[in-house]
Amino acid sequence: MLMERFTSVQQQSAVLSNDNTYKGRFAPSPTGPLHFGSLLTAVASYCDAKSQHGQWFVRIEDTDIPRIFPGSEQHILACIDAFGFEPDADIIFQKDRFHLYEQVLEQLRQQDWVYACQCTRKILGSNAIYNGTCRNLHLPFEHQAIRLKVEDQTLCFKDRLQGQHCSNLHQDLGDFVLKRRDGIINYQLAVVVDDYLQGITHVVRGADLLDNTERQIWLGQVLGYPSLQYMHLPLAMNDQGQKLSKQNLAQALDPKQASRYLQQALQALQQPHVDLDTPQRMLQQAILQWDVSLIPHQMQLPQIYQ
Ligand code: GLU
Repeated sequence: MLMERFTSVQQQSAVLSNDNTYKGRFAPSPTGPLHFGSLLTAVASYCDAKSQHGQWFVRIEDTDIPRIFPGSEQHILACIDAFGFEPDADIIFQKDRFHLYEQVLEQLRQQDWVYACQCTRKILGSNAIYNGTCRNLHLPFEHQAIRLKVEDQTLCFKDRLQGQHCSNLHQDLGDFVLKRRDGIINYQLAVVVDDYLQGITHVVRGADLLDNTERQIWLGQVLGYPSLQYMHLPLAMNDQGQKLSKQNLAQALDPKQASRYLQQALQALQQPHVDLDTPQRMLQQAILQWDVSLIPHQMQLPQIYQ
C-alpha cells in the first residue's frame, strides 16, 4: 500500500485525503481465533461503510506481543477472505509500525503531555485510577511506563447506538499509560495514531470498548487529530453471562461455514433476512438492506451464543 512507503507520521498524514468519504475499519487483535462476537463487528463495520459508499480497512492490532496467540492471525485472515470481505487497501499490522508510535510519543514528550512513571500495578492495584504520584518527579523515560496527562474536565460524545456517554477525565480515568514499562505500546496510543493515519472517519466496534473512547478522544484532541463518529455494538454473550471472548474460550469460527455464520450475524444485528448464498452475494444483499436503526440500542444482545 502506498502509505507504507512513508516513514514518518508527518509524511503519512500528508497523504491523507481531504474528501468526506466514509472510512471504516475492522481492527482485531490476534489474541485468539476469530469468534462470533468479532464477526458481528466485522459485518457491522463493513455493511455500515459500504452502505454509505465508504471504504473499509483491516488492521491487525498486534502490539501486545506476549498476548499473541499462535495461529490466530492466520485464522483471522483466512476468515476475512472466506467470509467475502473485501478490504479497500492492504491489511496493516501494528507490529510493523512501532517507529510511528514512538514518533508521536516523542512529540508528546516535547509538548510536555507525557511523563515517566515508576509505579507498578502491584502498588496501584489493577483497576485503581492513577493519582498522579509521578507527574512532577521528572523521571528519565528509559525503562519506565509513559503516561499521558489528563485535565480535570468532563468529556462527552454521542454514540450512534449507545447515546450520550461522558467521563470526567481526572476523576474517572486518571493519567493513562501509552507505553508500558516493558516497552510495549499501549492499545490506546496505537489505535488513535492508526485511525488518524488511515484517515478513519467512523469507528464501529464492540460495546466493551465504550469506556475506552473518552481516553482515545482526549489523546486525539491533544494531538490535534480530527474527531470520529463512534458506534458501539451490543455484545454477544455466552450461557454464563460472559461476553464471547478469546479469554472465555469462545468457539473459533469455521471458515467453511461462512454463509451460515453470516446469516446468524445479520440476525443478531436484527437486520432484514438474507437467504443463504455465497458470502459475497449475502454481503451485497446485507449492504443494500443495512439499517442501523434496527440494531438493538443496548450493551448486550438478548440471545445466547457460543
Ligand atoms: N483490537 C481491539 C480488539 O480486538 C479492537 C480495537 C478497536 O476496534 O478500536 O478488541
